[in-house]
Formats: sequence, structure tokens, C-alpha cells
Amino acid sequence: MIENKNQSRTSLSELGEFGLINHLTQNFKIQHKTTIKGVGDDAAVLEIKNKQLLVTTDLLVEGVHFDLSYMPLKHLGYKAVMVNLSDIYAMNGIASQITVSIAVSNRFTLEAIEELYEGIHLACNAYNVDLVGGDTTSSTTGLLISITAIGEAKKEDIVYRNTAKPNDLLVVTGDLGAAYLGLQVLEREKRVFEVNPNSQPDLTDYSYLVERQLKPEARKDIVKILKDLDVKPTAMIDISDGLSSEILHICTQSKVGCNLYEEKIPLDPQVISTCEEFDLNSTTIALSGGEDYELLFTISQEDFPKIKGNPHLTVIGHIADESVGANLITRAGQQITLTAQGWNALRD
Ligand code: ADP
Ligand code: MG
Repeated sequence: MIENKNQSRTSLSELGEFGLINHLTQNFKIQHKTTIKGVGDDAAVLEIKNKQLLVTTDLLVEGVHFDLSYMPLKHLGYKAVMVNLSDIYAMNGIASQITVSIAVSNRFTLEAIEELYEGIHLACNAYNVDLVGGDTTSSTTGLLISITAIGEAKKEDIVYRNTAKPNDLLVVTGDLGAAYLGLQVLEREKRVFEVNPNSQPDLTDYSYLVERQLKPEARKDIVKILKDLDVKPTAMIDISDGLSSEILHICTQSKVGCNLYEEKIPLDPQVISTCEEFDLNSTTIALSGGEDYELLFTISQEDFPKIKGNPHLTVIGHIADESVGANLITRAGQQITLTAQGWNALRD
């Protein structure tokens, strides 16, 4: 994490709305030929030939989606972009532009909003997207940030949620559950800090978890890896709400069932050790934790040799007929119906 070097506190009203927009956006460089006009007119102008457009938007509200007592504004800006790009990659597309709308109260200084935009800028450069517009308005109390991402893909490359077929393999990228545990660790430290403001948190044992919560990366790399391997998933979704709920979206929309194997779910060692410490079941956390921003997809069995051994990809189960239902097969071989909250066995 990077501290804000600039300690001055400039009131937003000193700049005015146009001064602020200009100040925030002046250093963003246009990277795409498809961006004909970015910030500065009534609307951005994009030219996308022979492709289909992908458009997605997310709204983040202070106190609901983020807590500024442990989420630095720079990280918030970065994460807000990632959340949107992840949805474009989940369609097997390339993200090319974003718009950013913010509502800020006078509690925020210019320096604070600059930090937010530093995070957005970092994300735009790292993921090669252009900032092409937005809106700026005031709010009575908290901060709201809404980002819209625009992407493109050839018609034949786009992957939907409703096209998984029985016998397809269920594949997940990366590992699961870390972002949720990162949040638990940060909330615990916040409570400690509230009791003892002189306490210095030691997060070394949780570095991966905290990083996954505060600085998630959208899986742009997977879109390229799949293309290079010549694998087109039969269905795909990003894991923002937990594995369980996303698998159920694919099953419901594709009208199929699935068997997911508990022993196959990829977990980082820090997830396993922290679950033990917090007395949590790591499978439940992977199934229901959320905010992992990994991709979940299905592939036809004949493509298995192409992905076999790839360190980014884990086969965790397979698609079945709808009549089979959506099931978790536990390490003990027990079959449990998946629910959006996790699995039935854990509900009282
Ligand atoms: P309008 O009055 O048409 O809504 P604005 O004055 O709000 O236009 O915005 C002027 C320009 O600045 C537009 O190109 C708009 O997209 C862009 N813009 C406004 N707010 C932001 C922001 N927070 N981030 C990036 N671009 C912005
Ligand atoms: Mg406006």
C-alpha cells in the first residue's frame, strides 16, 4: 500500500465542477484507436468495426460496498475498475473504455479524490483501457462510484452463461475464498483499533488475503490464455458472489445440473490456515465468500488435453443433466445440494 505523500487539504469548492473534472482527467492518455473522442464533449465517440459491443456497469456505495476506514481510496479506484473489467472478460471480450461517475460530499478534499483517480489511472494503464467520460456530482454524506466498462469481441468469440452442455468440464481460474477472509481480517483489525488506537496491525500472515480484498486483479490473462490454447469455453461467468451462486447461474440459465467435487476446489495455503484460526470451513468460504473475481467456465471434454496441467486452471467438476441437480460431492463422498448461500448441510 502506498501512503498519500501530499498532505495538503484543498476544498473541492475551490476548483468548481469543471476545474475538478479537468484536473482529474488531464493525465489520462487515449490508448485505443476505437476511442475517437474521450472526455470533453457531451458524449464520447467510439468506432468499433465488425465487432459486437459489450457494456457493463456497477455502482459502489460507501458503507455498503466499501469501508474507507481500511480501504485506501487509491485501492478503491483500482478495485472499482477491476469489478467492471472482470465482467467484460467473463464474456471472453477485450475491455477498451470506461466511464467513471462519482458523487462526493464536502467531507472529501481534492487530494482524496486525486487518490481515487490515481487508482483508476493505474488500472487503466495496467489493463489498457481508456477513460472516456463520466459524471461528477455532490452527495450529502458518503461517496458513490459508478463505473461503466465497454468492451468488444468478435461475435463468434463471445461466451454466454446459458450454453453449458451435459458432460462439459467445470473449470475455475486461480484460487477461491481469499478476498472474503481478507475482509474478515481487516474488520478484526478495525475492531482492535477502535479499542486501542495505538495498536499497529501485523498483517504478514494474511498478506495474500488482504491483497485479494484490497487489490484484486481481473483475469484479462485468461482470455488470452484460452485463445492461445485454442479453447472456447461453452459457458462462462465471473465469480463475484461466490462459487456456489455462480455455478447455479450457469446451471439455471443453461438448464443443466452439475457435480462439483469438494476436494478439487483450489485454496491458497493462507486460506486454509486462516480458516482454521477463525474456525471457519474453507469449503463454505470458497463457495459463498465472494469478491474473488476469478472466472468460472465450462469446456467440452475434448478440450481437456489443451488445458491439462495449466497452473491457472483447475477442473472442479462436470456438468450433468438438469435432472441430476446442482451438487457438491464432499471429500467423504456424500452428495449435497448446492444453494446460493453455500450448501444445505450448513444451514440451520
Ligand atoms: P454534461 O453536462 O454533458 O453532463 P459534464 O460537465 O458532466 O457534461 O462533463 C464534461 C465532460 O467530462 C464529459 O465528457 C464527461 O463525460 C466528463 N466527465 C464528467 N465527470 C467525469 C468524471 N468524474 N470522470 C471522468 N470524466 C468525467
Ligand atoms: Mg454531467
